[in-house]
Amino acid sequence: MLIAIAAETHPGECRVAATPETVKKYVAQGHTVRVAPGAGRGAAISDDAFVAAGATIAADGNVYAGAELVLKVRAPSEAELANIPDGAAIIASFDAQRYPHKRWLADKRLTAFALERMPRTSRAQSMDVLSSQANVAGYRAVLKACQYYPRFMPMMMTAAGTVKPARVLILGTGVAGLQAIATAKRLGAVVEAFDVRPVAREQVESLGARFIEVPADEGQSAETSGGYAREMSADYKARQAALIAERAREADIVITTAQIPGKPAPVLLTPETVETMKQGSVIVDLAVESGGNCPLSRMDQVVTTPNGVTVLGSGNLPSELAADASAMFARNVLTFAALLFDKEAKLALNFEDDIVEATCIAHQGELKNL
Ligand code: NAD
Repeated sequence: MLIAIAAETHPGECRVAATPETVKKYVAQGHTVRVAPGAGRGAAISDDAFVAAGATIAADGNVYAGAELVLKVRAPSEAELANIPDGAAIIASFDAQRYPHKRWLADKRLTAFALERMPRTSRAQSMDVLSSQANVAGYRAVLKACQYYPRFMPMMMTAAGTVKPARVLILGTGVAGLQAIATAKRLGAVVEAFDVRPVAREQVESLGARFIEVPADEGQSAETSGGYAREMSADYKARQAALIAERAREADIVITTAQIPGKPAPVLLTPETVETMKQGSVIVDLAVESGGNCPLSRMDQVVTTPNGVTVLGSGNLPSELAADASAMFARNVLTFAALLFDKEAKLALNFEDDIVEATCIAHQGELKNL
């Protein structure tokens, strides 16, 4: 099968959906791999490294010509769709609900797999780009906060005096939040964290952070059967807001990661709370793409409030760590793609497989799961 590795065209996107490591494996499986010139540049991968792994570089500029499978980080734009051969398969993070070119997928009879639809099961874990990229985002969020925070993170005892450790508050302790806790702890901060899912307590405490608990509503679990957070009652939200406001006043850095699939992100840090925060403190809002956990955050902007709080709305932190983010993304894609081929390296789809079924959003002229 001819696999095309595209150069990402979305503004600011530095990741790439394959690396020399995964190209080598596709080639060993019997595939032919063609890479767009410069596709790996943003991720510190040269064309030569792809060639050494067994790929060819699309010298004529059209990486898609004759491609049977296209690997991308982001869903194809209209211009890219025009170049992708009819009937080809595409694996990418489609953000399918909001993808504006769905009709094209059906009209061109493309088979499209939306990686963000990966089931949250043990078997799917190694293919889960939401997890791998959230891990990167959580790490990067802490470093980003440090960059704007005008003080040290760790406690220091020096001849010039003692420095107190930074107090970091993490709101939402899914994959990104847990990595943010681990990173802030490694830098020597005092960390506390909050999540609506009570099971998060053990994970937070095992990383050496303090868990802030808001007792759940009687008879209602904060977690869906899929392991995601549920939207909570007004009463719960009021109790949560009061506690978070109290903890945010004490914090030097607040990293918010709270999301509810398919819904706007919950507001956890109100403008009134931010007004009470310390001058020089920093907020990193990782949920900015889905509306933000802090209404003051703006996508990819640095906002400074009148009381001197810096609010960072970070939309694509994985792209800022593109080499490792791509390595993880590419491995997820490689593992997933293996489900789609038969022994002759031909596309052979088994819709009885829950992973194939859940991620496929278009096949043979029909849109699926949309
Ligand atoms: P996510 O990105 O959807 O949300 C981030 C966090 O925000 C979650 O922990 C959620 O509980 C929390 N949250 C939502 N509303 C909140 C509120 N009002 N206040 C505070 N926190 C709030 O979550 P995620 O990182 O994708 O992970 C969700 C769960 O799925 C976790 O338990 C994770 O360990 C699990 N998971 C399982 C697999 C797998 O088994 N394959 C893979 C990834 C994640």
